[in-house]
Amino acid sequence: MKNIAVIGSGTMGNGIAHTFAQFGYQVNLVDINIDALGKAVATITKNLERQVAKGTLTEQDKENTLANITTYTNLEQGVEDADLIVEAATENIDLKLKIFKDLDQFAKPEAILASNTSSISITQIAAVTNRGDKVIGMHFMNPVPVMKLVEVIRGYATSNETTNLVMDLSKNLAKSPVEVNDYPGFVANRILMPMINEAIYTLYENVAGVEEIDTVMKLGMAHPMGPLQLADFIGLDVCLAILNVLHNGFGNPKYAPCPLLVNMVMAGKKGIKSGEGFYDYSNGVKEAKVAAKFA
Ligand code: NAD
Repeated sequence: MKNIAVIGSGTMGNGIAHTFAQFGYQVNLVDINIDALGKAVATITKNLERQVAKGTLTEQDKENTLANITTYTNLEQGVEDADLIVEAATENIDLKLKIFKDLDQFAKPEAILASNTSSISITQIAAVTNRGDKVIGMHFMNPVPVMKLVEVIRGYATSNETTNLVMDLSKNLAKSPVEVNDYPGFVANRILMPMINEAIYTLYENVAGVEEIDTVMKLGMAHPMGPLQLADFIGLDVCLAILNVLHNGFGNPKYAPCPLLVNMVMAGKKGIKSGEGFYDYSNGVKEAKVAAKFA
């Protein structure tokens, strides 16, 4: 495998493209939004510069990595030569089903189609293609160049050959892949999202403020980041979408998203990417925001 296409150049797509390109793969980065592509290349450049400053990459590695990335707004052109396609577009089931139908049509018949979805069924995505054995989940963690885990999700029809190829490929990227089966939220988000949702309920019920909740989890449980800050980092819209998948998939009210999370997403407060979530990032520093409203 040499040629990789990444669909979606947002928070995750730019990190996935960066990582493959750094390890010598040719990457076509595809997004319908040309501004998102420009922003992605700027983010990758900034992150590579940080690696050079830390001494973990040379200036030449940085140049080689950037030279390995080509951007496209046209899906067909972006994927026609790809051996592996990693879809990292917005977490929306209808959108992903449409993209996978198109990928099945435009990609080489032997190409593997992977999704970086946080929670949407790989089995359902595979069912809209004619190559269910070659469809798999390849769930990277944020920030992709730094985080070691890849959750590799086997759909109902995913073959052993596809699973083994993706496990080996992840190791080639210096990642540690873990194989899991396809049930709502897989492993990572089935455990993480109820914790984040409970932290939001704790705030909503005025048990404590934003900073107090995050401090309890950081100092008390040795988490590097509190759950509310982590939610801002992931994106509140992404958290809500994952909780809805868990709630619908299991039919268990314990996964129902907290009304405060629903309200914040409706108000456009999506966390770091929109400048405000549980914290306000607009002044360049992180300030607790929601706490005041619930004091
Ligand atoms: P994002 O909102 O930052 O970026 C999504 C990108 O997809 C946008 O640039 C958008 O223009 C693009 N897009 C939308 N429709 C498209 C189409 N038809 N073709 C090409 N591009 C299209 O989202 P994100 O946080 O990067 O999430 C992407 C995926 O990764 C989701 O499935 C999400 O669940 C998953 N994920 C997110 C995180 C996280 O921490 N944010 C972690 C792991 C997995």
